[in-house]
This record gives sequence, structure tokens and C-alpha cells, in this order.
Amino acid sequence: GRMDNIVLHVDDVFKSFGGLHALSDIDLQVAEGKTHAIIGPNGAGKSTLLNVCVGRLKPDSGAVVFNGSILSGRPPHEINQLGVARVFQTPEIFPDLSVLDNVVIPALAKRDGAFAIDAWKAMYSEGELKDKAATALEDVGLQEHMGQEGGSLSRGDKRRLELAMGLVQDPLLLLLDEPTAGMSRLDTNRTIELLQKFKARGMTKVIIEHDMHVVFSLADKVTVLAQGRIIAEGTPDEVRGNPAVQEAYLGG
Ligand code: ADP
Ligand code: MG
Repeated sequence: GRMDNIVLHVDDVFKSFGGLHALSDIDLQVAEGKTHAIIGPNGAGKSTLLNVCVGRLKPDSGAVVFNGSILSGRPPHEINQLGVARVFQTPEIFPDLSVLDNVVIPALAKRDGAFAIDAWKAMYSEGELKDKAATALEDVGLQEHMGQEGGSLSRGDKRRLELAMGLVQDPLLLLLDEPTAGMSRLDTNRTIELLQKFKARGMTKVIIEHDMHVVFSLADKVTVLAQGRIIAEGTPDEVRGNPAVQEAYLGG
């Protein structure tokens, strides 16, 4: 409703790669505590939108505003410290470090800033962050794997590890790019349950998702992108029945 507190406002964003208009005229408002899904066919601009929100890409015009702060133009670590965490489409973990250390690092980065990673070894004896990291790993069901190298995890478990790396930061806003891609149906359902748990704790989420089962299980609101533009927005049921959405998915 109109009393909702808007946490993230994407305001008239454009982004091109050469002659390709990856994002045109994107306006998006994400309300506090809600799960906002972004769906659309491959190449629609979903990942580009997420990358603009986390500072990996600078919009050509427009702005991204988070809790009153303009994010666009800030470096990713500053955006992260403001309380925005992300889970990328391709897991970005530290393959040679233990599963536990993979989660200690983002906890430290959130607490002390990006450059604290240099001091990680010296501070490693700190129990507090390790406990926090272990709790995040329990939350995602990886407690049995804490001591093994990140790179040795299965594809689905790497995705769960990345989720723990985001959750350990207690983010105000969590952005997830296809968090269930490559997961079995069982792992997908576990991830849905996990994200529902964090929703119950009030975390605001933007989730890019291909799997409609995941969208219908989690989303309060859905924005549909096609060829860099918003073609529909509404509740999951509203967008499901929208002919323009069906056409976009059928390649019309
Ligand atoms: P989606 O995540 O919806 O599949 P993307 O945001 O990854 O789509 O891509 C949108 C469009 O922008 C695609 O046509 C893609 O090829 C193009 N694109 C994405 N990133 C780049 C880049 N860094 N350089 C050039 N083109 C890109
Ligand atoms: Mg993508």
C-alpha cells in the first residue's frame, strides 16, 4: 500500500553496452520486508539491473537510492557497508579457503570495511566472527562442511555457501541472482524454506529467478523485464495472467 516504507528505489535507470540497450527507463520500488522478484527471458537485463544496484555497473543515467542514500556511483564495498548484500548468478567464493573462512571474510568486511580483508590472518583468532559465520552456515545447512575447502563443494552447496556469505552480514537488503540455478528440486525447496525464514525475520529481498515455483513461493511483487524494459508488474497471480508476459516468454 501507499504507507509502505520504500527501501530501494531504482529511478529512471538506463544502461547500454555499445548499441545494446540493456536497461531502458527502469523504475522500481522495493518495500521494506517484502520479497520482490524480477523475472524475464534470458538477456532481458535482469543481471545488469542487479549489477547496477550493487555498484558493479554505473548507470548511463538515472539513480539507485537505498534508504535515502544514492548508491549509483559508489564503489561496491561502500554499498555493501550500507547494508546491501548480494548473491551473484555465478557463485563467487574463495575455492582454496575453508567453507568457514569463506563466511568469516564477508562478516569481517561488513564490520570493518573492505580493506580489513588484508588483516584477516592477523584477526583470525577472533572467536566472535567465527561463531557468527558458523551460525550462518547452520542456517543454510552446511554445518557438516565447515572444515573442507570451498572449491570442493557441490554446485548446489556452493550456492548455499554464497547465501551464507550474504546472510552473515545481516543485510537490510539482500539481492539474489537466480539462487536456485543448478540446484536439485530438493535443494531448491530447502532454499525456498530458508528464504521464507529470513522473510519472517523482516529482511527485504530482491530475487531474480527463472523458476516460477520459487517465484510463486516467495514473491510479494513481481516485475517482468523483456529486452531491457519493464513490461509488467504486479502480484504473482497478476503477472501470470498477463498476455504480454506470456508472449515475452514464448519469444513473441
Ligand atoms: P539476463 O540476466 O536477464 O539474462 P543480462 O543483464 O545478463 O540479462 O544481459 C542483458 C543484455 O546485455 C544481454 O543482451 C547481454 O548479452 C548484454 N550484456 C550484459 N552484460 C554485458 C557486458 N558487460 N557487455 C556487453 N553486453 C552485455
Ligand atoms: Mg542473468
